[in-house]
Amino acid sequence: MPEVKTRPSAKKAAPSKLKAINPATGKLIREIQAFSADQTAETFENARKAQSEWDSLSISERLVYFKKLRHLMSTKLQQIVQIVASDTGKPKTEVLTAEVMPVLDAIAHFEKHAEKVLSRKAAGTPMLFWGKKSYIEYMARGAVLIISPWNYPLQLAMIPMLSALAGGNAVILKPSEITPLTGLLIEILFKEAGFPNNVVQAAHGGKDVGEVLTKGKPDYIFFTGSVKTGKAIQAQAAKDLIPATLELGGKDPMIVFKDANIDRAVNGAVWGAFTNSGQVCMSVERLYVERPVYHAFIAKLRDAVQALKQGHGDHDDIGSMTSPAQVDIVKEQMEDALQKGAKMVTGEAPEYWNTEEGLYIKPIILADVSAEMKILSEETFGPVLPVIPFDSEEEAVREANSTDYGLNASVWTKDMDKAERVVSRLVTGNAAINDVMVNVVNPELPFGGVKNSGIGSYHGEGGLRIFCHEKAVMADSGKKNYEIQWYPYKGKMPLFVKLFQNIYGSKQNVADMAKLYTDILKKSKS
Ligand code: NAD
Repeated sequence: MPEVKTRPSAKKAAPSKLKAINPATGKLIREIQAFSADQTAETFENARKAQSEWDSLSISERLVYFKKLRHLMSTKLQQIVQIVASDTGKPKTEVLTAEVMPVLDAIAHFEKHAEKVLSRKAAGTPMLFWGKKSYIEYMARGAVLIISPWNYPLQLAMIPMLSALAGGNAVILKPSEITPLTGLLIEILFKEAGFPNNVVQAAHGGKDVGEVLTKGKPDYIFFTGSVKTGKAIQAQAAKDLIPATLELGGKDPMIVFKDANIDRAVNGAVWGAFTNSGQVCMSVERLYVERPVYHAFIAKLRDAVQALKQGHGDHDDIGSMTSPAQVDIVKEQMEDALQKGAKMVTGEAPEYWNTEEGLYIKPIILADVSAEMKILSEETFGPVLPVIPFDSEEEAVREANSTDYGLNASVWTKDMDKAERVVSRLVTGNAAINDVMVNVVNPELPFGGVKNSGIGSYHGEGGLRIFCHEKAVMADSGKKNYEIQWYPYKGKMPLFVKLFQNIYGSKQNVADMAKLYTDILKKSKS
């Protein structure tokens, strides 16, 4: 008998438990039950049932739940901060200011503005359609899938979730497997705030869970994460004709002109590059400094970085990295840069990194970098700041625009005309002048990337409306039996010619228009 060889299955079974490990200490916090693929159909069914009831509430009725959530989160502020800090390795101050505060602010913003943004809008009606009324309504999409990353696991899940919920959608959240404790926290917060059953569901797990939910035909996908995953999600969404917003990576430039407030720019660069250990989609990843102040700037950067404290105590400035896989990416880019001649002004070379008892990388300022180094073109997502001199505005703009990304950028100068001129030439979704990243926390402004940094945006009015279909309506009182463009056409052509010449030509006469309109209508009756 011929030997029968069975192929080992390419797909590994998904683990039934996720491990929440504190990256600052390497210690296991707890295990979390993972979502299983066979729960997919039921999860969507539950979401759709819950959604129709949720959608039948008025926006102001939905916002009552938002208020309860805001109060609950304010009461539990310390516990929330503790949980997210232990899940991510961030300093507690950063959890409070960059995770919890933006969520609370977003809730308060929705409570104030969602009703107006999502209520019916009157629209104009062309003269040709005299007497009719036009308006736009915003209709919930249905079951929205939100897939979130690990770097800001609270706010990057909760803000899109709340944006979708305000419009009457049900939400299925797929939090990052790297920070599962925060995923669980979000699930509990919505439950404790009293949101109706299944209006919010969380499916804990990794890539396999994200894939199975993406294939489960949600009515909308809101994804935040890497370019690679964004492309895979977009490909699946295209197959099923599902609309998606993609918030992806960045390689953000900061441009400092010689006339800038140098001390402010130094402090801004250090915070912009090293907050959250550089694991920010909008981290300063390339710092361009005008040559006359370049050396002085580097010296000030070195002093400022050396004054930073790293650890997981309450007074530390820089926490640990969150994901071991990200440490490997930073390591690989650093090795490439050093091997190609980059010089470290601060920090340690990868061979000295010890991440066994906590994923700490000391902040690195890098000089003598050149275009062929990965560190200048690929997203680093770690505490490394390459500093590059430039000689002209033209060169700064060209270099800033030289990557495949376009998320955020900043321009530093006392000359506001120059700042605005340079910002206008940057191919970027967002920008700040004499500041870093600040634009993302203004809920009045849209946030989204261009080029490989994403498709679409959220925040701002559009951030609520993307989760709704725009329903465009024109209404007639129904009293007339005919419309001028309806059958029969007999005898109408010359009158139409005169009518359109009157409307669109150089001489308009309202009385003539009205007469022509009536004459055409009469032809309909004859
Ligand atoms: P990632 O793409 O690896 O994972 C993001 C999420 O997608 C996770 O929940 C993951 O489990 C899930 N996932 C992975 N593969 C999937 C698949 N094939 N189908 C469906 N889901 C899948 O990204 P990450 O490492 O968690 O996050 C870091 C990246 O996110 C960086 O590139 C960063 O720049 C980007 N990011 C962007 C923004 C923004 O607003 N533009 C904000 C934060 C982070």
